[in-house]
Amino acid sequence: MLMNVAQPSHTPRSRRGTPPASDWLENRNAAVRNDPDALLKELVSRRGLPPTEARLLVLRILRDDTDGHMSAEQLCRALVKQDFATGVSTFKSAIYDLNLAGVLSRVIAPLNSNRAQALYEIADKPWHRHLYCTGCERLIEICDEVIEQRISHQFAVAGLTQANLDFARAGKCLACANAESVHG
Ligand SMILES: [Zn+2]
Ligand SMILES: [Zn+2]
Repeated sequence: MLMNVAQPSHTPRSRRGTPPASDWLENRNAAVRNDPDALLKELVSRRGLPPTEARLLVLRILRDDTDGHMSAEQLCRALVKQDFATGVSTFKSAIYDLNLAGVLSRVIAPLNSNRAQALYEIADKPWHRHLYCTGCERLIEICDEVIEQRISHQFAVAGLTQANLDFARAGKCLACANAESVHG
């Protein structure tokens, strides 16, 4: 009896012998189809951390958040809503471990006139900065290659390595500024 052996799909290779980007993307998409947390597990393992349930939980909450930047308190509130067996202290240390390992990066933004808050995001994007509206408490990401080049240059001149941290520049968006001028 003839066995029906599945043949690997042959996609054309580039002339240099490295798989084309489409192969890599296809493999990655297939992995994600089989396990929706595949990318998160990869992020954690790549930084040498075992992908524990608490760590994946932190990353899942951040990935599924529309804004993608959350404080430890907001993350804990989301955890409690999901009613998981993971204790809050285990969950909090997962946040700090992920940040130390570079899986999460931190943005410091104003909380009120004399306090600041740390917001966490998954560090899977290119280097970027943040603007912050103090009215609606919205973070706006700015990806500007020229700014990043200038900053990297200044870090190199000073002999410093950039930390996994950004300080958001505060301002007021048009809607908040208009609302203020109407009410006050
Ligand atoms: Zn605003
Ligand atoms: Zn960001």
